[in-house]
Amino acid sequence: MNLHEYQAKALFQEYGIPTPKGQLIQHLNELDDALDFIAGSHQGSAWVVKAQIHAGARGKAGGVKLVQSRDEAHQVASQLLGSQLATIQTAGKKLPIHSLLIEEKLAIEEELYLSLVVDRVSRTHSFVISASGGMDIEAVAHDSPEKILSVHIDPTVGVMPYQCREVGFALGLTGTAFKQLGTLMQQFYQLALDKDIAQIEINPLIRTQENTLIALDAKVSIDSNALYRQADLVALRDYSQEDVREALASKHELNYIALDGDIGCMVNGAGLAMATMDLIKLNGGNPANFLDVGGGATPERVAEAFKLILSDSGVKSILVNIFGGIVRCDLIADGIIKAVQEVGLTIPVVVRLEGTNVELGREKLAHSGLSIITASGLADAARKVVEVAGNN
Ligand code: GDP
Ligand code: MN
Repeated sequence: MNLHEYQAKALFQEYGIPTPKGQLIQHLNELDDALDFIAGSHQGSAWVVKAQIHAGARGKAGGVKLVQSRDEAHQVASQLLGSQLATIQTAGKKLPIHSLLIEEKLAIEEELYLSLVVDRVSRTHSFVISASGGMDIEAVAHDSPEKILSVHIDPTVGVMPYQCREVGFALGLTGTAFKQLGTLMQQFYQLALDKDIAQIEINPLIRTQENTLIALDAKVSIDSNALYRQADLVALRDYSQEDVREALASKHELNYIALDGDIGCMVNGAGLAMATMDLIKLNGGNPANFLDVGGGATPERVAEAFKLILSDSGVKSILVNIFGGIVRCDLIADGIIKAVQEVGLTIPVVVRLEGTNVELGREKLAHSGLSIITASGLADAARKVVEVAGNN
């Protein structure tokens, strides 16, 4: 689960991590207050207007604007609020801008990069840092990976002083900034542990003319599997930034991931769902989604799952592949019939049912009046569903 920049920065402040002075606005009539609040501690009239969306690379897409006057602030804010923004990180989608973070404009001496990730290879938290931060970090990673340093944190001892020195030297820091970096690394690590954070990315972490470090940007994503124990963070979830179908799926506790193919898949069990997608691919087709309805599926959840698949206008055929172990085949049949009664069905459905109450399930489907193509075995089902998608 991703946080907005302003939410991430509020967490940083709780942990003592410095961020620019700023205020969030959701309506244009709040802008003057925000400008006043910031100007109070700040000489001159210059601010930064930042679109709050769940994606980075906003700067290059026009979502982060430095403004020199109140008029300009109003002009930019009225343009951004209520509009949509696509960046190179949004995979072709436009995300709605419902709020803006207004911040003081800081003079930047240097832009650094710092992130803290759960590193599956070393099985630790790792800091990833570079002296070449800023908007072109992807190019740095691609063209000169030697400019990027990883430091693994041993969970039994935490962040060690020698590691902070190593990072400080690599970033070329001295004096106040060098000392401050050690504190920052401890604070980020504690924050990541306490809040079950999968990734923190600060790009840029700036060094000011006073030689202090400030988190100018903030990207935080929470480990979704830990949300059950992070109630405060769950409350920060912004569904408007997520894929509509994925958000709906998570409300119904379905494991659904949207893909760009045209064959809808409804399967129980993540392993079987993966194998089903593989078989579709093997037969020359492309899955439209990954969907695991889970072991405890009720007819209602199956119906929601089926509706979810049907709501994707790119879907040309559906493969239902259920191996009833814990879940009963007749309940799956009930769910499919319920969904079709509610939303109708204009595309072919191939069904492969096996396991508990399979006879009853098949009977229900056969008497439902739905034109369902039955398959004998998974290989046969995959072949048939690809064939009918091609004809559709
Ligand atoms: P991103 O493009 O979504 O990663 O948004 P950022 O928050 O990183 O902002 C993009 C860029 O805007 C930064 O890399 C800076 O170069 C610039 N920027 C943002 N805030 C300030 C500021 O206070 N002062 C100055 N000089 N530049 C800023
Ligand atoms: Mn950034």
